[in-house]
Amino acid sequence: MINILKSEVRLSDITTIKLGGTAKYFAQFNNIFELKELLLFAKNEKLPAQITGGGSNIIFPDEGYKGIVLRNHIKEFSYEVFGEDVILKVGAGNNWDEVVKFCVNEGFQGIECLSGIPGSTGATPIQNVGAYGQEVSDVILGIEAYRIEDNSLVTFNNHECGFGYRTSIFKREQKNKYIVTEVIFKLHLNREPNVRYKDLADEIQKDNNYNNLSNTDKLKFVREKILEIRRRKSMVVDSNDANTVSCGSFFLNPVLNEEEYKIFEENLFHFPLKPKIFKTENGYKIPAAWLIENSGFYKGYNKNGAAISDKHSLALVNRGCTTGQLLELANEIESKVKQFFGIQLYKEPVIINY
Ligand SMILES: Cc1cc2nc3c(=O)[nH]c(=O)nc-3n(C[C@H](O)[C@H](O)[C@H](O)COP(=O)(O)OP(=O)(O)OC[C@H]3O[C@@H](n4cnc5c(N)ncnc54)[C@H](O)[C@@H]3O)c2cc1C
Repeated sequence: MINILKSEVRLSDITTIKLGGTAKYFAQFNNIFELKELLLFAKNEKLPAQITGGGSNIIFPDEGYKGIVLRNHIKEFSYEVFGEDVILKVGAGNNWDEVVKFCVNEGFQGIECLSGIPGSTGATPIQNVGAYGQEVSDVILGIEAYRIEDNSLVTFNNHECGFGYRTSIFKREQKNKYIVTEVIFKLHLNREPNVRYKDLADEIQKDNNYNNLSNTDKLKFVREKILEIRRRKSMVVDSNDANTVSCGSFFLNPVLNEEEYKIFEENLFHFPLKPKIFKTENGYKIPAAWLIENSGFYKGYNKNGAAISDKHSLALVNRGCTTGQLLELANEIESKVKQFFGIQLYKEPVIINY
C-alpha cells in the first residue's frame, strides 16, 4: 500500500487552475480495496482525507493540505443493451469526455451536449454537471458509493441523489461522507440529439445536410459543434490556451423568486443590453456573466495575476496568482454584484478549508 502513497505532492500539479500548496500525502487508487487501505491509513495517522478526480472543480489553499489527497482511478466500464435502452456502468475514475466520445460514436444518445467537460465520471453527480441544455441527472439511474463512516458500499437511485441546479446531496448535506465508485447511466439507441440550446440550434440550422444524417452522425455533429463552441469560450482544457487555467465557470447563475425578479426587472431600463433570462421551475435564472460585466468588470480584468478570462466573464483564471489572490478577486466580484444589483453570487468550485 505504502508504495502508492507519495509525500509532499504539489496540488497545483493535480488541479486545472494550478493552485494550492503541497499535500502531505497523495495517492491514486485503482479499486475499492486500495481505497479502503488508504482510508485506514488516514484514520490510523489521524489525517483528514480529500477525494479528487480530475481536479477541475476544486481549489486548495496556499498552505496546502495537511492530510491525504486521494485520486479516483477506478476504470471499470461495461454496458448492456435492452431494446432501445443502453445501461452503462462506469467506474468513477474514467475520464468523462472519453465516456461521452465513446457513447456518441456508438450512437448512445443522452450525454452528447456534455462533451468537452473536463474531469472524472465520478465527479459528475456531485454537482450534477450540466451544459447546453443537458444535465447528468437526466440520465443517471443511480450511483454506487463508498460510505466512509462504516466502510460499506451503498447505492443511491436518481431521486436519492437530491439533484438540483449544479448540486446534489453530495455537495450539500452529505458532503465528504461518500466516495462515488461507479455511476450507472441509462442512454438511448436510435434517438436524435437533444438540442435545447439556441447557439447550438443556430449552428445546426446553418448546416444544410444535418437532416440527412443518421442519428449517430447527428450525435457526432452535435458533439463537434459543442466542442467548437466551448473552445471559442476557452471551456475545453488546453495546455496551449492560458484562459483554461481555471475551474470553468466560477459562479453559479443566480435564480430569483418572483419578488426578487420584479425588483431586478425594474432596474433593467438603465441597461441598453438586456440579459437573457431563463424561466425555470425554481424561478428566474439570471446570467451571472451579465451581472459581472455590468458591475464594472470586463473580460481580461486582472488583479495581481487573478483574472477574468479573456473569453468568458464567468471564468476566473490563474495568471500567476495565489489561491488567496484568486479568492480576493472572487469576493470583490461578489460584493460589487451585490452592491449594484442586490444579488448574491455563489462560488461553484469546491474550495478546501474555506
Ligand atoms: C475549462 C472547464 C470547463 C468546465 N465546464 C463545465 C461545464 O460546462 N459544466 C459543469 O457542470 N462543469 C464544468 N466544469 C467544472 C468541472 O469540470 C466539473 O465539475 C467536473 O465534474 C469536475 O470533475 P473532477 O473529476 O475534475 O472533480 P474534482 O475537481 O477533482 O472534484 C470536484 C468535487 O467533487 C468531489 N469528487 C470528485 N470525485 C469524487 C468521487 N468519486 N466521489 C465523491 N466526490 C468526488 C471532490 O471532492 C470535489 O468536492 C468545467 C471546468 C473547467 C476547468
